[in-house]
Formats: sequence, structure tokens, C-alpha cells
Amino acid sequence: MEEAKRVENRVSPITQNAKSRPIIKKDLEPGIMAEANKDGSTYVSKDASPAQMKDAIDHEEVHHKQMERGDLDYDDDNVIWKGKKFSRAKMNEGAQKLPWEAEAYKKTKKSK
Ligand SMILES: [Zn+2]
Repeated sequence: MEEAKRVENRVSPITQNAKSRPIIKKDLEPGIMAEANKDGSTYVSKDASPAQMKDAIDHEEVHHKQMERGDLDYDDDNVIWKGKKFSRAKMNEGAQKLPWEAEAYKKTKKSK
């Protein structure tokens, strides 16, 4: 498919939302479809279908916007939302009730 091919070649955009962010296909942990990185790039699972990739990139775009406006940050051990630390060890990352995820689910109406 055209979209998958463009991902393979690391050329953006895949969607209108994703504008100029690099999309990098990777072998991600089981159950992880995509990840938004602080450098503006997005990792997408190499196992995702083109439709899953598009949805995942839309979802991660919300997280990029959250990072750009300063609400979302993270390090190896924590996710920081509006100055409050959430320990990754105690967190089910991607859970819809987490505030940064709640916004992403609301804006995309997709579960990721
Ligand atoms: Zn998310």
C-alpha cells in the first residue's frame, strides 16, 4: 500500500495531522502500536497494518501537541503531566483514564 511504503521510506506526512514529523517503523514491545518521541518523531510498530498506522499516528499526534505546549514530558521512569509525576512502574501506559490519554482518545475517538 502507498502509505506503508511511505512509512518504510521514512517520508511524512502520512496524514494531514502528522504534517512534518518523521515516522519510523520499528519493532515495538508487544501491544504497543506507536510511541511519540520528544524529538518530534513517532515510532510505529512494523507489525501494524496501514489502517492501524494511520490511526496510531493520529493518536500520537495529540501527544506531540501536548509535549509542544508543555503539558506532557517524560523520562525513563516517569511520565510528567502538567508538573505531576506518574511512575511508569505503577502505570498501565495507554490506559484511557490517564489524563494525556483521555485527551488523545477524545480527540481521535480511536482506542490505541
Ligand atoms: Zn496515547
